[in-house]
Amino acid sequence: MTVREIIENAEHKMAEAGIEESYYDSRALWEYATGQDRIAMLLNMNEQVDDGIYSRYMNFVHRRCDRTPLQYITGIQNFMGLDFLTAPGVLIPRYDTETVVSSAIDIIKKKKYTSVLDMCCGSGCIGLTIGHECNINRLVLGDISGQAVSLTEKNADRLDIVCNIVETDMFSGIDGRFDLIISNPPYIRSDVIPTLMPEVKDHEPKLALDGSADGLVFYRRISADAADYLNAGGYLVYEIGNDQGDEVSAIMRKNGFSDVTVLKDLNNNDRAVTGHL
Ligand code: GLN
Repeated sequence: MTVREIIENAEHKMAEAGIEESYYDSRALWEYATGQDRIAMLLNMNEQVDDGIYSRYMNFVHRRCDRTPLQYITGIQNFMGLDFLTAPGVLIPRYDTETVVSSAIDIIKKKKYTSVLDMCCGSGCIGLTIGHECNINRLVLGDISGQAVSLTEKNADRLDIVCNIVETDMFSGIDGRFDLIISNPPYIRSDVIPTLMPEVKDHEPKLALDGSADGLVFYRRISADAADYLNAGGYLVYEIGNDQGDEVSAIMRKNGFSDVTVLKDLNNNDRAVTGHL
């Protein structure tokens, strides 16, 4: 069979498995299986394929048809122009989160902030992007998951970002104060999780998604303790679910934050809340 026949056949299988992005994913997995870029793939469309490449590609295609996220197969996800390693057990970086990070970067640059804590860091995409874009003297990333901590360590090494990465249950392992705390905590309501896409509900870690019955437990915990870990006037920046703007704003105000503001992502959904002491 030719490259074209194999890729189109895989695209069809993926579409049958319910994958919306079957066109893109079938090509992305081909590039990953062959190590060739898009141009080489297009130039070789009519070539015959050897058995080794074919079985390597089909192994990836079958995993994708089982709804394993593309990024757990290829091991990589781009986030704000930087490549982050991904790994099963750790949430894959989302484009929605880019809006939250760029809002934080605006605040950090405007206020000339130099110390940042990323609480619930997962792959490290939030804190490490901030470390890459801003002049931060003290960057700390924390997560309760050992798998997240070790993935963040790998990503920090690859991107050459100097930081401390701590395995911690919220603030228990954190010392000192910061100019800004940013967090994308688990925020999905427990009863919503079974309704999510198979890629998310069957393959991504519940620990990183489940925000308890009302989805808000971690906003309450972080907001209650943040004042002990922020400098005077310091900022708290959250990612939120698109229907949590009012509730998270109320939690922040109750804990003494001012100028609490809800920001939208590129899809015009509420996605971030910011406020300061
Ligand atoms: N935005 C993620 C999702 O839709 C959830 C991330 C989180 O709970 N922090 O799957």
